[in-house]
Amino acid sequence: MKSRSETLVIATRNRGKLREFSSLLACVYDEILSLADFDSIPHIEETGLSFRENALIKAETVSRFSGMDTLGDDSGLVVEALGGAPGIYSARYAGKDASDEENNKKLLGELKRKKNRDAKFVCCLALVLADGGREFFEGECRGQILREKRGESGFGYDPVFYVPQYGKTMAELSPDIKNSISHRAIASEKLLSHFSGLK
Ligand code: IMP
Repeated sequence: MKSRSETLVIATRNRGKLREFSSLLACVYDEILSLADFDSIPHIEETGLSFRENALIKAETVSRFSGMDTLGDDSGLVVEALGGAPGIYSARYAGKDASDEENNKKLLGELKRKKNRDAKFVCCLALVLADGGREFFEGECRGQILREKRGESGFGYDPVFYVPQYGKTMAELSPDIKNSISHRAIASEKLLSHFSGLK
């Protein structure tokens, strides 16, 4: 499906996310850029109170600088037994600039005595078009939090996130499989359907 032959800017510096979005959206945009391709864009504070608000803040800020179609995403892990935490604070759960290792350690510590291990990854995409239009697309992926890490692939909470349908953690799945079932994949499919409707 090649309905647009333009550039899309993805408002992220996260290389894991950029890799996944680039592979998911390569059939729509000829060129995919990220924040790493622009020197002048300042650090964007995620001051929103929901995934949707944060996705829109990122997309609108970058769109003002780039003048191109821009995709902002906000995603994270929502754990039932923790009342939805870490949620929008997933990247900084163990503190500002925390590593994946530190965040996973904190999560396993918080869940140590919890029987309910149900969790979901959530992704909200905000597409801000150069002509001012905006659209939102959401995806979820359900699983359980294990008691220890397994697997080397992916990023973030992937090593502790067990996907029952495959009997593996996200970090044990190949990138192709992860890219077909993830919260980002589901939100991106909705984005792709939106584009095919515009054809
Ligand atoms: P964001 O950059 O503010 O959207 O932060 C998202 C954070 O949620 C990441 O830094 C990860 O900790 C976590 N996260 C989001 N998507 C995934 C995923 O696909 N696998 C593992 N962790 C994820």
